[in-house]
Amino acid sequence: MTRRNIEYFGWLTAALLMALAASWTDLGLQLDNSAYDWIFRHYRPADWEPQSAVLALDDESVKAYQGVRGLRDALVDSLELVAKAAPRAVAIDVMLAEPGAPETDARLEAALRRIPNVVLPCDLQADGKAWEDPIDRFRRLAAGLGHVHAEPDPVSREILLQKVAARDRRWALALEAYRAGRGARILETPHDLEVAGAAIPAALRKDRALRIRYRPPDRAIPRVGLQQLKADPARTAGFTGKTVFIGATGQIIARDRLQTPYTENHVPMAGVEIHASVFETIAQRLFLSDVPVSLTVLLCAVVVALAGVIFAFLPGWRAYAAAAALLVAAQSAPYLFFTHSLVLPFLSPTLAAWLGISTAATYQHFIVRRRMLKAEGDRHRYQQAMHFVTHEMRTPLTAIQGSSELIGRYNLNEDKRKQIAELIHSESKRLGKMIEIFLSVERLSAGQVELKKEPFDGLALMSACIGRVQPLAERKRISISLQPDFEAPLHGDRELMDYAFYNLLTNAVKYSPPGTAVSVFSRRDGPHLRIAVQDQGIGMDHKEVRQIFQKFYRTKRAEASGETGTGIGLSIVEQIVTQHGGSIEVASSPGQGSCFTLVLPAATVTAD
Ligand code: ADP
Repeated sequence: MTRRNIEYFGWLTAALLMALAASWTDLGLQLDNSAYDWIFRHYRPADWEPQSAVLALDDESVKAYQGVRGLRDALVDSLELVAKAAPRAVAIDVMLAEPGAPETDARLEAALRRIPNVVLPCDLQADGKAWEDPIDRFRRLAAGLGHVHAEPDPVSREILLQKVAARDRRWALALEAYRAGRGARILETPHDLEVAGAAIPAALRKDRALRIRYRPPDRAIPRVGLQQLKADPARTAGFTGKTVFIGATGQIIARDRLQTPYTENHVPMAGVEIHASVFETIAQRLFLSDVPVSLTVLLCAVVVALAGVIFAFLPGWRAYAAAAALLVAAQSAPYLFFTHSLVLPFLSPTLAAWLGISTAATYQHFIVRRRMLKAEGDRHRYQQAMHFVTHEMRTPLTAIQGSSELIGRYNLNEDKRKQIAELIHSESKRLGKMIEIFLSVERLSAGQVELKKEPFDGLALMSACIGRVQPLAERKRISISLQPDFEAPLHGDRELMDYAFYNLLTNAVKYSPPGTAVSVFSRRDGPHLRIAVQDQGIGMDHKEVRQIFQKFYRTKRAEASGETGTGIGLSIVEQIVTQHGGSIEVASSPGQGSCFTLVLPAATVTAD
């Protein structure tokens, strides 16, 4: 994997982590719930024949029985009517924790005896530490007790099928009614509950929470008010074979009304209807399971990875089209999952898509830009290399061409011929050396060849270079002095080091006005050997100094001086010195002169 790929991978991972972190905040969970409710309202499951019915103690009935006080009488009348219809089971959502009027209670007891499979309600006491159960005379007659505790947040999306108070575990009213109606037992595993063949996916670690599958409002569970039933007793036929839920539904007894995903802006639903809905969920096996967190994370990772792949491999608009498709897919995934009874959070895949796509797109945009800049840089370098070839190499080539022409065209005497032959020889050697140095430094910096390692005397090398520069210096009346304070034993590639010294010296002479002085000195400085070439020439400012080691860079002052040059020498010098484990320091100011110092480490100083 290249460094750039690792960087890309790192950014995408950060996008994924951000998406996951954001979706686990309170706000994220709220958004997930809102999306869940939206999906609930927009997806219509296949219709089914309800196995339950609600006998509603609605406002009309409660009023007819003189309000809350008459509720137990209303319940007794309801039970007497229901008894005639032979229901499968009856679940009562009217608290019977206190004794009522003796006559009413006696009638209630008689009614309870007549109906098989009656489930009575229990609720947590106000402090939540104990159960509030029906009084004993009723409780004895019940097929079971079920808790009527709903967990609104504030929307009732799920119910805890089990609740524990004072180590006493109670099943939810609807579950208990289902069990009683089938005369079955509830079998428990850590992952689900099994009743009469129905495996209910309510895990213990989630307190046996079960998502409630409500029926759409236009297909609500059949419901009839007590007063309506009394006016038209034939309607009791609707209860035959069904599990009947009896409870208050009106505004008068409001404590029991909750919001559901369907009732966003509408009237809340009565508790008894919520219990009936839980019953339908179980009876019809319409269970909604949460997608495991690990799978959600995996899905988000896939979404981010796809975003990464899209922008890495698809060009231009195709990438954006594919990204838009990915976004739509990620956003509609929760709905598609819901149609398969799976609940996938909305926010995490959506955020993963948005963040993944924007990260990938931004990153690739910058890569493309970087590549473009690099291509421009390459072109620039190529042009300058051509410049180097045409200028630097043309001089010796012209000399060779001219001289060879002279030999061919004229009848020259032996001396002249010898002189020209020598010139051709030296110029072609110079050309060959230039090419060799240029290539070997390029190869060296590309890591293709190894540096030669031999001991040599740095001072002797410097003197030889001064000797070679002397004719040029003399022409400009520039004096060159060598002030060593001790010997300079070096270890490395003699030929390359020669090039470096020579280049610094020729630059000092080239960029100095006539009549000035160039001094070379070397000095031991701790573990280093410092060899400096100082001139009194045109100098450079700070900005220029920073650029002179770039290939083909020349200062304006150098261009204006009329001295020929290619701007490649110092870049080669720097590479040679770096390859030897050293560095170059430059001190310069315009018009004052420059001092180039080679700092070579002690390791290269000691000859072996
Ligand atoms: P060249 O001399 O062929 O232009 P170099 O790579 O050797 O190329 O130098 C790069 C540039 O650095 C020169 O063009 C010049 O502008 C500047 N430079 C180098 N040495 C000196 C110096 N001694 N004094 C002033 N400027 C210098």
